[in-house]
Formats: sequence, structure tokens, C-alpha cells
Amino acid sequence: MSRALTAADTATMMSGDPLVLVADIGGTSMRAAVVDARGVLIERATIATEPERGLADAAGRLAVLMTEVRANAAVPGEVVAAAVATAGPVDPATGKYRFPPNLPGWHDETMVPTLSEALGLPVHVGHDATLAALAETRFGAGIGMRHLLYVTVSTGIGGGIIVDGRPVTGAHGGAGEVGHMIVAPGGPSCGAGCGGCLEAVASGSGIVAEVRRRGLSWDSAKGVFAAAAEGDAAAREIVESTVRHLANGLASLLAIFDPELVVLGGGVTQGLAPYWADLERLTRDVALPRYAGGVPLARTSLGGDAGLLGAAVLAFQSAGIEARAAARG
Ligand SMILES: [Zn+2]
Repeated sequence: MSRALTAADTATMMSGDPLVLVADIGGTSMRAAVVDARGVLIERATIATEPERGLADAAGRLAVLMTEVRANAAVPGEVVAAAVATAGPVDPATGKYRFPPNLPGWHDETMVPTLSEALGLPVHVGHDATLAALAETRFGAGIGMRHLLYVTVSTGIGGGIIVDGRPVTGAHGGAGEVGHMIVAPGGPSCGAGCGGCLEAVASGSGIVAEVRRRGLSWDSAKGVFAAAAEGDAAAREIVESTVRHLANGLASLLAIFDPELVVLGGGVTQGLAPYWADLERLTRDVALPRYAGGVPLARTSLGGDAGLLGAAVLAFQSAGIEARAAARG
């Protein structure tokens, strides 16, 4: 699905269409965009996060980026609200971080006052994977669904949970950490120190750790996938083990949440594309009997934009506007 602005979009876009100003903060980059209620990204820009320079520094640079993006949006329309998707954990009520592993040094701080003041708008905050899940129910693989899980399998493994149409955030903004489900008791530990969790055995960093344990030389999950595609036996074993652990995790999530759909995103998910049928079969094999006919798994169609689009849903919600994709077909 294209999220680029097309001539048809421009033609049907009336002046005065409500727009929102959003950002997505990750450990590597910060992105900003102006988005309309149909999920069209009208203008966008990216800068490096450089979290080691501190939250105040990043907040100042992001405020400038968001201001520029707003000024450059070549479509008439009023920006009615602003929201930020961010790596977490983060408290959605205050925007305060809680020991964020990918944003070291940002604990107990928030960007909200800086951004609100610079933009002249209230700024709402959500966890990136939770907002990605929300985006999938409006613009992605699960449009109209009320029970959906989003699982990102990348350097780490994270997740977002939508139950009865609402994001589940937990008591401290920490819900959805599906990467730390224990799927291999006694197995290796993740960076957070839990032994045998899904992230330790099925994430990009878990794959690289397994390469090292075997004394092999690939330095990325991508390298392992490429070698497996060329028939390397050790690489294939590592990929098969990744798929099996992921299947165990997904079967557990299906049993607990009974979602309409689990959407998978992230770089490792892309690498697993040739093994998708295996993932479905292995998940079905260990899932409850109600999944004998098949498991509701899908790969994301939103690419890397799910966080930005989820922030847009949140911003529109705050303005009393329901954002969703235009009817197609
Ligand atoms: Zn863990």
C-alpha cells in the first residue's frame, strides 16, 4: 500500500481538511510528519536521535524538525493536534520515560513541555509498538478490527496490544513487552537479563548471539538470512530455531488474547518472509485446537511508518476525529 501523496489525493483534498503533526522517536532516528485523517503522509523529515546528547537536546531538535515539517506541508489544512510515538517504556499520561533501554539517560524525563510550547499545541505521547498496533487497525492489515496484536521482531522484540478497540498500556506504560515472554527456560539471556525470553532467542540480537556461541562470523541477522538462502547448513539451523521459538511465542499470545489478527513487523520479520509458511505451520502445531484451521498472522503493510501513523490516530482522537483509511476498491 502506498502512503505517498498522489495526484488523486491532492484533487480530493479540500482546503481546511484537518491535519495532525506527529513524530516517531527511536534509538537511532527521530522522524516527523504531517498526516491527514486517511493516513496520507503529506510531509516528512528525519534526523538522528543521538540519545547520548540528552533528552533536552533531542527535544529542542525535534521541536525544530516538527515546526519545519508543518511549515513545508504543501497542502492547505489546519493542524489540529500533535502526538509522538516513542521507544519506551514511557508513561502515556506524562510522557515520562522509565529506564528506556534504547534512550539511555532519558529516565524520568519528558519532552512534552518543550514540544507543546514550541508547537503551540497539546502533545500526546504513546509507546511506538502500541501505536503501531493502533495504526494497523485503521490503515494496515487489520482495518476495523477491535482485537489486534502487533509484534515487532527487529534488534529486539516488542509489541502492542489492542483489546476491544483500546490500547493496553499497563500500570506503568510497560504492557506489551512480548519479547520478554520466557519461551526457552534455561536458555540465553536478553540485554535486560531475563533468561530464555523470546528476545534472547528470536530477535536480531539473539540471532547474532547464537552466531557467536557457535563460533561463526556473520555479524547481523541479515547476513544469516542471506547465508541460509544460499543453503549454508549452520545458518539454516539458526533460522529454523528462530522460527520455532517465534512460533512458541505467537501461540502463547493467541491463547492469551484471542486476537482477530497478529501483525508482525521489523527487519527480522522481513528476513523471515521465505519461511512464512513454516512459521504459520509451527505456530498452528503448538497453538490451541481452535487454530487447527489456521492461525491469524500477517506481515505489516505499513513498512516503517506504523509508529507515525499510530501517533496520527492518537492525535486525531484527541481532537475528536476518527482517522482511518479511505475505502478502496
Ligand atoms: Zn528478556
